Amino acid sequence: MDSTREEMSLDVLYVGGGPANMAGAIHLMRLAKEKGMDIEVGLIEKGDEIGAHSLSGAILDPIALAELIPDYGSRECPIEFSQCQDTFYFLTATRQYKVPFVPKFLHNDGCHIISLSKFTRWLGDIAENEGVNIFPGFAGTDVLYDTDSGSVKGVGTGDKGVDAEGKQKPNFEPGIDLTARVTVFGEGSKGSLIRKIGRKKNIFPHEAPQTFETAIKEVIELPKENRVLESETTVIHTFGYPLGMNTKGGAFLYRMTGNRISLGLVIGLDYEAPMLEPYSAFIQLKKHPLIAEIIAGGKVLQQGAKTLNTGGYYTMPTVAIGGALFVGDSASMLNAQRLKGIHTAMKSGMLAAETIIDAFEKDDFSNHSLSGYRTRIEKSWIHEEQYRSRNFSQALSKKGPAKWLHLGAQFFSNGTGAVDPMATHADHSAMKPVGSVPPDWPDESDRKEGDAFDGNLYVDKLTGVFLSGTTHIEDQPCHLIVQDLDLCRTRCFREYRNPCTRFCPAQVYEIVADESGNRKLKLNPSNCLHCKTCEIKDPYQNITWNCPEGGGGPKYTIT
Ligand SMILES: Cc1cc2nc3c(=O)[nH]c(=O)nc-3n(C[C@H](O)[C@H](O)[C@H](O)COP(=O)(O)OP(=O)(O)OC[C@H]3O[C@@H](n4cnc5c(N)ncnc54)[C@H](O)[C@@H]3O)c2cc1C
Repeated sequence: MDSTREEMSLDVLYVGGGPANMAGAIHLMRLAKEKGMDIEVGLIEKGDEIGAHSLSGAILDPIALAELIPDYGSRECPIEFSQCQDTFYFLTATRQYKVPFVPKFLHNDGCHIISLSKFTRWLGDIAENEGVNIFPGFAGTDVLYDTDSGSVKGVGTGDKGVDAEGKQKPNFEPGIDLTARVTVFGEGSKGSLIRKIGRKKNIFPHEAPQTFETAIKEVIELPKENRVLESETTVIHTFGYPLGMNTKGGAFLYRMTGNRISLGLVIGLDYEAPMLEPYSAFIQLKKHPLIAEIIAGGKVLQQGAKTLNTGGYYTMPTVAIGGALFVGDSASMLNAQRLKGIHTAMKSGMLAAETIIDAFEKDDFSNHSLSGYRTRIEKSWIHEEQYRSRNFSQALSKKGPAKWLHLGAQFFSNGTGAVDPMATHADHSAMKPVGSVPPDWPDESDRKEGDAFDGNLYVDKLTGVFLSGTTHIEDQPCHLIVQDLDLCRTRCFREYRNPCTRFCPAQVYEIVADESGNRKLKLNPSNCLHCKTCEIKDPYQNITWNCPEGGGGPKYTIT
């Protein structure tokens, strides 16, 4: 069987089909046409179609969209709702208290509620019409470098048709080496290629490690007569229960069309309690009286999980190196204070496109030439937003009164606060050994087994995986590398009771007994939702997440 890798040469290669790269590719094609340039542009996406791996809240601030597609309103942009009425609640285990004052950054006037999956697909169609060659089902697995200059010269896609032992199957297709004058990386949160580039080119600020949150989200169909649908409320934010006050995070509930709502719980991955299980916390949220009443009689249509990077301004990597640019969540563009990153991702893609056009005009794709991208970001509204919220997530991570002091100080000083910059810490280092921290979230042990799930509105993890549409070819090399399996059955069990079995929302990690009755880690990689929580939160950094064969993973359509 011929295993020779083909090479395909492009002018610009986009890795990742999220809003950052879609907006960037559309802008690039239009600018190139205006300038009379004929450029070959390709985009690869690991999902089996555009939008399949897109999951977000999502409330869209249309600022970048209006710059890119001013007439989006008349171009069938898939908007769910436009009159965003915000309400904000503090939850205890049994009660809710409406906060009379909704902070300005949580106001969503002028924003649209969307499904990111639908929105990205819509952008994808526009990009294709502009002439972008879109290749869904192709995962970038290697970064290619020019041997002389050391610049990035493209990406290698993964082989297809390889079995679990690494042998070629009858349907084997070798990966392709996609080379380009410039490659734009928009892999979203915790990209696997940017991780490799980071190691080689030292692009991440060591003094400010990136921080993350993880989220579980559902789209629920409600009965027609429903409180939330009858009221003016379109957006609900909550904090407090089920996470308590020392674990960062909160819930969102957004109204969608067709009697649907989007419900999610976001949890800071710097949580300390090893027994915390984000999925259980999500179920507890759904059973809180405020939420349970709203969703009563409903049915979960789709479920999924994803991480988002919240470190913001001080955790931004070097955004341009020779032959490569980094956009969107990959470049830490998300505004954690507003829990919004779609508009900044899109704008960063557009600024990258303008930089690329300049580089073509100069015929110079060196680090020096592409660094104009950083300057563009600094002069744009992305910088204003990022700078204003530069210490927000760090303040939220504080415990007790310190949290409120820092948040208050930032509120009155436009982001500067009491300490600037506030330090960030890698999330995996936050976990405390079992028994050393009180569970800062309600214990579920008193819940009667069997009461938790009904298979319809309250679904268990495996049903959730089914509802995400996730599939992978089973017989392929495991995309999750656990470096030291011994550690799992010894130290990790002793110190943290194998938290991977809890922080993974898809039951990918299980502890089972081997033939001799000893504990061993069993992996179910086919369940993987590509959220990457495991690589971020594993306390020993013993897990590496790589892209599985292209086309595998969730098949989100309305998230
Ligand atoms: C639960 C949740 C709620 C959110 N709520 C909001 C909100 O209300 N408003 C808002 O503005 N933002 C929100 N965000 C953030 C927002 O979704 C992101 O900031 C935004 O999607 C980032 O866009 P991106 O293009 O950088 O990355 P992504 O949207 O993550 O897209 C990256 C794409 O790249 C693909 N990819 C990754 N690696 C590879 C590879 N190696 N090869 C090929 N393809 C690859 C992925 O499959 C994916 O499709 C939320 C996020 C979450 C998780």
